Amino acid sequence: MTAPSTPIELVTIGTEILLGHTVDTNSAFLGEQLAALGFRVTRRTTVPDDAPAIRDAVDRALDRSHLVLTTGGLGPTRDDITKHVVAELLGMPLQFDEQVWQMLLARYEKLGRAPAASNRSQAMVPTSATVLPNRWGTAPGLWLEGPRGVVIMLPGVPHEMTRLMEHEVKPRLGALGGSPVASRMLRTSGVAESTLAEAVAHLENDLAPLTLAYLPGVAGVDLRLTSWDAAPDTARARLDEGIAKLHAVAGRWAWGTDNDDLAASVLDLARNAGESIAVAESCTGGLVAGRLTDIPGSSDVFLGGVIAYGYAAKEQLLGVPADMLRQHGAVSAEVAEAMARGVAVRLGASIAVAITGIAGPAGGTPEKPIGTVWLAFVHRGGVSSRRVVLGGTRPEVRARAAATALMGVRQLLAPDESAR
Ligand code: ATP
Ligand code: MG
Repeated sequence: MTAPSTPIELVTIGTEILLGHTVDTNSAFLGEQLAALGFRVTRRTTVPDDAPAIRDAVDRALDRSHLVLTTGGLGPTRDDITKHVVAELLGMPLQFDEQVWQMLLARYEKLGRAPAASNRSQAMVPTSATVLPNRWGTAPGLWLEGPRGVVIMLPGVPHEMTRLMEHEVKPRLGALGGSPVASRMLRTSGVAESTLAEAVAHLENDLAPLTLAYLPGVAGVDLRLTSWDAAPDTARARLDEGIAKLHAVAGRWAWGTDNDDLAASVLDLARNAGESIAVAESCTGGLVAGRLTDIPGSSDVFLGGVIAYGYAAKEQLLGVPADMLRQHGAVSAEVAEAMARGVAVRLGASIAVAITGIAGPAGGTPEKPIGTVWLAFVHRGGVSSRRVVLGGTRPEVRARAAATALMGVRQLLAPDESAR
């Protein structure tokens, strides 16, 4: 048995975070890092650059947890007060630290600038604090240990915070951590969360002590399994076994695991099968091509595509007959199939996908509501098409249509097999 993960609380400090001007990426980064190091973030609090608020947040966090990590408010400006407030809370007076001052002076000399008078305040350090030198900015991090526990203070600037975490905090935290919180994901697309839940629900007891979370996103639902208190080898084995169990019941919707990318998996399958891909996009306006070309090395599989938004482009660039457009409308099986055939022939691709739909917010009709998308696929000379009705806002419909198209190509290439 190993120790369970160690609780830790995060306090992110900054009025701009509460106003929504800054997204709290520090907490996300720290949550992930700390989980891997054997810590369980039990709570995160965001407070403005306001002394009573900071004091209260750190005070309460220390009541609950012996470990507290703060970010923000360590700079030289008037609103940077974290250090003063926390030092006072822990009863550690500030004193001038010559070594920190010399480091600051050296940094300014390198930059060819003179420090402002306010920078002197950055060399004030709580007595008995450990200074975490910051080679990437001016505000050092601080590690304070008192009878109530440990408070680690890091600057708010993300690239400084991440580097201090890596070089200064991680090595010191090592001894305090318990079992890492580890997780794996099965990634699905083209299935509603509720349908997936029905298929998977009976497994939940069987998966214990792993916990299962459904994470719906725009392009699909991820099933995340988490191991909380097991030794790394046990956790890994349990997670692999859990993924296999999930795959057994949800495999037909799965396209990958963990950090896999749907477009990358499509390209890999096509490459192995010696196929080439072309796209004809109307309502997605190049999103499918964008996702494929995001992947380095896609050029050996992806030939290119046509963005055919208006009737003229569909006629002139893809050879869709004008009569067909008039008779069936641009959002129809006939037009989608003609678009796919047109691009396959013109680019000499063995696989072509066409997407034409109504992304909204206007343009829906009772027969063709907003979110109606026709997809057509050419493969081995044959053509097939299908209609889906996708929910959400315009960007969501477009992103879902692109994912559905990629998923469709994936199914052509691997009709039986799904996620690896
Ligand atoms: P500095 O020495 O640069 O003043 P600091 O510790 O005082 O560092 P802040 O002034 O609080 O840090 O924030 C500096 C910058 O970092 C701001 O631009 C802010 O938007 C960004 N930042 C602060 N906190 C976070 C956070 N939790 N997530 C993402 N960015 C943040
Ligand atoms: Mg600041």
